[in-house]
Amino acid sequence: MGKSETDICDLSAVEMLKLLEDGSLSSLEIVKAYKSAWEKDCTSGKPLQGYVEWYSDAEEKAAAADAARKNGDKSPLLGLPFAVKDNISVKGKKCTCGSHILEGYIAPYNATVVSRLLDAGAVPLGRTNMDEFAMGSSTEYSSYGPSRNPVDRNLTPGGSSGGSAAVVAGGQAPFALGTETGGSVRLPASYCGVYGLKPTYGTLSRYGVVAFGSSLDQVGILSKSAEDTALALSVMAGRDRCDDTSASLEISNPSNLPPLDLKGVKIALPKEFVVAKGLDSRISAVFDKVCVWFKSQGAILDVVSIPVLEAAVSCYYVIALSEAASNLSRFDGIRYGIRRDPGEGYDELYVSTRSDGFGAEVKRRIVIGNYVLSTHFSGDCYKKAMSVRARIQKDVADVFSKYDLMLVPTSPTTAFPLGSKVDDPLAMYLSDLFTTFVNLARIPSLSVPMGKTPEGLPVGIQICGPMFGEEKILRAAKTWEVDCGREFSAEAPL
Ligand code: GLN
Repeated sequence: MGKSETDICDLSAVEMLKLLEDGSLSSLEIVKAYKSAWEKDCTSGKPLQGYVEWYSDAEEKAAAADAARKNGDKSPLLGLPFAVKDNISVKGKKCTCGSHILEGYIAPYNATVVSRLLDAGAVPLGRTNMDEFAMGSSTEYSSYGPSRNPVDRNLTPGGSSGGSAAVVAGGQAPFALGTETGGSVRLPASYCGVYGLKPTYGTLSRYGVVAFGSSLDQVGILSKSAEDTALALSVMAGRDRCDDTSASLEISNPSNLPPLDLKGVKIALPKEFVVAKGLDSRISAVFDKVCVWFKSQGAILDVVSIPVLEAAVSCYYVIALSEAASNLSRFDGIRYGIRRDPGEGYDELYVSTRSDGFGAEVKRRIVIGNYVLSTHFSGDCYKKAMSVRARIQKDVADVFSKYDLMLVPTSPTTAFPLGSKVDDPLAMYLSDLFTTFVNLARIPSLSVPMGKTPEGLPVGIQICGPMFGEEKILRAAKTWEVDCGREFSAEAPL
């Protein structure tokens, strides 16, 4: 007892769990503190709108966790709350992907990542806002309207997992699940000043997660520290027989995630990104300081050239949109969500439902995706993108045969003003300049809030590792935290 609501909301997940374990804080107190923070925020002039739904049974679940603890339950996350992006299934709850077309759709089962968190005793707080079907970089393409950035409410929190980043950075959840296809966890993490992990393809099961680009999709974690990320990952990772692309990966006990000794660690800096056109000079200034810090720890940094990375964004959009056009064909007015039936037959029902249900950006992508796959190109465009992807995978793997880690700015810019790119899809797509190669190469990457611009806007830097190198990148981030602090609300003392 004795902690104010704000104190509680500021705690990291690991700190919270310690207090739950030693009995000085109850899950109900925590959930009440978050609820009251969320309620207060909803009535403010410029609400965050990170949540699109606060679960009405969150307090009940928290009380049940407290009762279980009293009865000797030692589940690893017992009573720890979390937030879930609106495209991840939570049984019995709405799952709408920020889209009108899924209005009223209730998930009939839990995604594997969710059931593993629930089995570990964690308490879901609510659903978070996102760009429709995870297509976007600002949450402005959500049918619920945009979320705001807690650092400056006139700015976007990034997207598509912007709601998840906003609730973590805004003190309304200790950690949140997001999803990634091309940067949707790391970009909002960077804009809001929190940690965002895109795990290796296969580390987390995709079962129960609404598909966008299946060969790229991966669940990610938004949190306040490397340890918190490891905590959530350790519970969710591992083979799932419901997703054949899932792999067995053991993440060791995060409560003693040891910092990585950086002495002699070899780090590659891809030239194509670190001296890229369009890279904001305030971001390069932070990046340079980060490099100086890594060198001061004994790491060996080399600029390497991977020319094919210049093609990553184009390659990503061809593959992601082709897969999306196919994946989204299931929203047909028959099986899920809304139905608009003019009574003229199946084709009319399909056309009316989809015309009414999807927003403009999703339609644009379905049209482009189908065009790319159409007989007009006889699949050539898609095949070309697949060979570029194979080259990216090979060249990135070659770099990791010589280097331990890679450092790359997360985004070419800081968070941008709401409304400034919403009518310019190309400008929006370019926010992903430095993130999509990671999804194409299937490697893990953690966006770490490593600094701020002179205006106080957060800057995230990605620590990327080889396939299944999650532990290494989390430990490297921990080393940075121990030395520089994880004071993401203050100027990072680089
Ligand atoms: N912003 C990218 C896009 O719009 C990435 C989205 C994502 O990772 N889900 O496709």
